[in-house]
Amino acid sequence: MDTLRKLPKIDKLVANPLFEGLNTTLLANIARKKIEILREEILSNAKEDFDEKKLLFDIKSSYEKLFEPSLKPLINATGVILHTNMGRSLIHKNILEKASSIITNYSNLEYNQKEGCRGERYEHVSEHLKNLLHVEDVLVVNNNASAVFLILNTFAKDKEAIVSRGELVEIGGSFRIPEVMQQSGAILHEVGATNKTKASDYRKAINEHTSMLMKVHQSNFSIEGFSEDTKYSDIKRICEENVLIDYYDLGSGYIPELPYNLGNNEPSLKTILKDDPSLISFSGDKLFGSVQAGIIAGKKEFIDELKKNQLLRMLRVDKITLSILEETIKAYLKEDYQSIPTLWMLFQDTASLHVRATKMQKEIGEKFCEVIKSTTVMGGGTLPNREFPTIALHVKGKASKLERLFREKSLIGRIENDMFLIDFRSILPEFEEQIISIIKKITLD
Ligand SMILES: *Cc1c(COP(=O)(O)O)cnc(C)c1O
Repeated sequence: MDTLRKLPKIDKLVANPLFEGLNTTLLANIARKKIEILREEILSNAKEDFDEKKLLFDIKSSYEKLFEPSLKPLINATGVILHTNMGRSLIHKNILEKASSIITNYSNLEYNQKEGCRGERYEHVSEHLKNLLHVEDVLVVNNNASAVFLILNTFAKDKEAIVSRGELVEIGGSFRIPEVMQQSGAILHEVGATNKTKASDYRKAINEHTSMLMKVHQSNFSIEGFSEDTKYSDIKRICEENVLIDYYDLGSGYIPELPYNLGNNEPSLKTILKDDPSLISFSGDKLFGSVQAGIIAGKKEFIDELKKNQLLRMLRVDKITLSILEETIKAYLKEDYQSIPTLWMLFQDTASLHVRATKMQKEIGEKFCEVIKSTTVMGGGTLPNREFPTIALHVKGKASKLERLFREKSLIGRIENDMFLIDFRSILPEFEEQIISIIKKITLD
């Protein structure tokens, strides 16, 4: 019990010169918890004495830990460009720099400078997007999940939306099309079979409750073999004949033709928009290579309806999103794909990846690593099952151990055939110096 009495008073403890300049409320909270633990340990005889100095340093180190960044940069050496767990698309420094003056200043976000009255936040990107996509109108929301929800809620609440059974997908992060539809108030009318849905299936399903035919991109899987799905142009025609809305949830839309024939079963935005859809939507941070957003494009009459839905207020995007998106769209209009890291990485040919990998191998020494050819995937629920070539540096040694050592140094690599690989497909050249020093540290230890 004597020991208990020796436990310091909180206010006296936090006044210790060791804590000068620190937030005393936070310190007191930390100290209180630590002393409580000590008290219990002493009462249960787990501890007989305590060391005041150790307690002080313990409190200080817990305090400092609170201020360590939780979000921190990683080097993505997995080769998967759109790595969902590592933040999907990167934003180019130049684009962020241009956007930063909007983010750090007051702006005309919702102010019409010419008339001196209230303006509309969505207008800042709509002209550029219309020029890029050649559509009547556009709308940007928080992400593509929001876009799906807003569209279904606006046009199919208490009405039927017809969807193929082969497209009732789960995207990951438990975003399931059937469940999202239910939450939005839309009634899901499934048609066809898992592997086959024909135009006639849609036709037969239409009834007086139908408001929409929806097509959903399969995203992270593909159906091979005895399979058939209905072309969007056919869905569009059925909708026109029956005065219904057609909507295509593309998941990931892209602008320039993709390398390695990746666009074979995956039409570009330009191709899809030729069918003149009522509405389409896609993510801002998948193949489009910008910030997290849901981009909706299509007919003005339908976009106007979406703008009237109160939900839009909850799904609306901030100036941070709008300013970065505006700059990305301008980069597209200038065909400046250098400023869109997702595309820059995808368009790197294997010859230049090979040059970069060989240069790194020479710096480190051939004894420790070798350059190998491999394949990778795009990730982020895009281009399912489509592999394309890449070049990697195989760091010699036990793969599982190397994976952990590199991970501890914030470099996330990939294990393939028991080899630890640093894949150049998802690495920007500006990180090569840092990678070399990490490899040297690990292989020389
Ligand atoms: C990725 C994806 C979504 C969700 O998009 P987020 O921008 O991640 O919200 C919705 N539908 C499809 C088909 C997708 O591939």
